[in-house]
Amino acid sequence: MNSTKPHVTTAGADPRLAGGRLTIDLDALVANWTFLAEKSKPAQASAVVKADAYGLGIDHVVPVLHDAGCRTFFVALVEEGLRVKAIAPDARVFVLNGLFAEARPVFEASGLIPVLGSHYEIDLWTGANAVSGLKLPYALHVDTGMNRLGLTVAEALDFAANAREMPVLVMTHLATADEPGHVLNQRQFESFQTLRAAFAGIESSASNSSGIFHAVSNGGELSRPGIAMYGGEALAGVANPMRPVVTLEARIVQIRTSPKGETAGYGATALLERDTRIAISSVGYADGYLRSLSGSGTPLRNVVPKGGEGFVAGHKVPVLGRVTMDMVSFDITDLPEDAVKPGDHVELFGRNIALDDAARAAGSIGFELLTSLGNRYHRRYLYSGKGA
Ligand SMILES: *Cc1c(COP(=O)(O)O)cnc(C)c1O
Repeated sequence: MNSTKPHVTTAGADPRLAGGRLTIDLDALVANWTFLAEKSKPAQASAVVKADAYGLGIDHVVPVLHDAGCRTFFVALVEEGLRVKAIAPDARVFVLNGLFAEARPVFEASGLIPVLGSHYEIDLWTGANAVSGLKLPYALHVDTGMNRLGLTVAEALDFAANAREMPVLVMTHLATADEPGHVLNQRQFESFQTLRAAFAGIESSASNSSGIFHAVSNGGELSRPGIAMYGGEALAGVANPMRPVVTLEARIVQIRTSPKGETAGYGATALLERDTRIAISSVGYADGYLRSLSGSGTPLRNVVPKGGEGFVAGHKVPVLGRVTMDMVSFDITDLPEDAVKPGDHVELFGRNIALDDAARAAGSIGFELLTSLGNRYHRRYLYSGKGA
């Protein structure tokens, strides 16, 4: 494929009409991937672009990662893999979410590689290989403690000793890598070394974003970063070294001053304890600004007592009352009069409000905020190609 030229690409809603805008800094994305690739060494870094590249858009993310040198991608579903292949035909694309019999012809035609995690799937694949005479490659998923997809370690060791068709990649997935002190990490890494020995000479892969940051890890020959590449936190309780990639801003529709003693929003959950200047913005839970970001005092806020925050005119401002389908309100009483006017944008997360802080306020994680982003935004993709 041709290399990607510097560009500002817009997508989604007309910027004059949209209630919110998303800015996606592809230079920061590339810088993050390059940093993770460096940190992965001696392993090679792939890129995990499932769920439409964590909500950012496969069509925009894959070309610049390919330019940066990424040649292996992981997706959850076959259709995501087809999109990656259409952009980067020379890339290896692994499909994580298993195999159904009906999908085999699509794999045959596309060159996608399935990640197989059960004897059912392996028999399906190797059986089809035998019938067609095509020795199509597959990856083997081994479960070392997650209890999600994959052969057990015992099954995998037995398989290694007896298999007629060996996988091209043996992988496992870490359940607690974001908590470096968790005992399960050690157990999973130990099992993984046992597997590497049993599948000697076969490429192996263990580390997601968090795994890459483990000092003691031997994550095999291939790392699989996702969230950190998109700017999210890889490790709990540690300053995030990644550059923010996504900025979400909502347009302010109206500013009103409401008297002390009244309430604001659905459920009358926000009692105004002073005369309150309120900025109402045009993004809501239908856009993926989760309802659990509703302001303090709302009954559903039993996970994290504090609500979400916005950033406008150089200040952080709290969400006031419940997040609604299409709107969220902020208390801007503490800002200078006239600091905010209709048509201005309030940042919901990005450079000034970390993605993960917004996620924590929702009782959630950065992954969920990114993959929930709706399709009503005006999207801007910025790429200078300089990694700047
Ligand atoms: C999603 C996923 C990853 C990427 O994880 P991050 O925490 O986003 O880095 C890696 N491997 C597998 C199997 C996954 O499902």
